[in-house]
Amino acid sequence: MTMESKGPTTPRHPEELSGGRFLRLYGRALRLRCPHCGEGRIKGSWMKMKRVCPACGLRTERGEEDFFLGAMMFNMVLAEFLVVLTAVALVIILWGSVPWDVLLWLSLGLAVVAPFLFYPFGHSIWLASDILIRPVTEEEMEWHRTHPHDTYRKHRDR
Ligand SMILES: [Zn+2]
Repeated sequence: MTMESKGPTTPRHPEELSGGRFLRLYGRALRLRCPHCGEGRIKGSWMKMKRVCPACGLRTERGEEDFFLGAMMFNMVLAEFLVVLTAVALVIILWGSVPWDVLLWLSLGLAVVAPFLFYPFGHSIWLASDILIRPVTEEEMEWHRTHPHDTYRKHRDR
């Protein structure tokens, strides 16, 4: 007769690296919900995010002055990806009779419009990515709930 251990099992990967958590965070971000809680709508108007999740109180910039740089980077990557993907798809579809002038002007127009189309998604996807890398701690949430919205955290959680 053997005795099996009834203790807690150790997950193969830390929770922050699991595929389920990845899909959950990005799924919430694509629906423009707070990636942390999944409840609060974080989009104010199309070009302005709410400063605080109405459900859990997480600040959408995590109390960091330079948080918008990551959001801006994701916005540009998404926008330029759309431009390149559209141009490549049109070249493949129309190969042999590609209207190059139309493609040029279409790509230029899309390059101008796409950053506005993706604006809220750049922010929400960056917030999900940041939470994926640096999970929100209870200590951080306490800071979000207790400090005025125009103050920034002095030290980031690492
Ligand atoms: Zn929330």
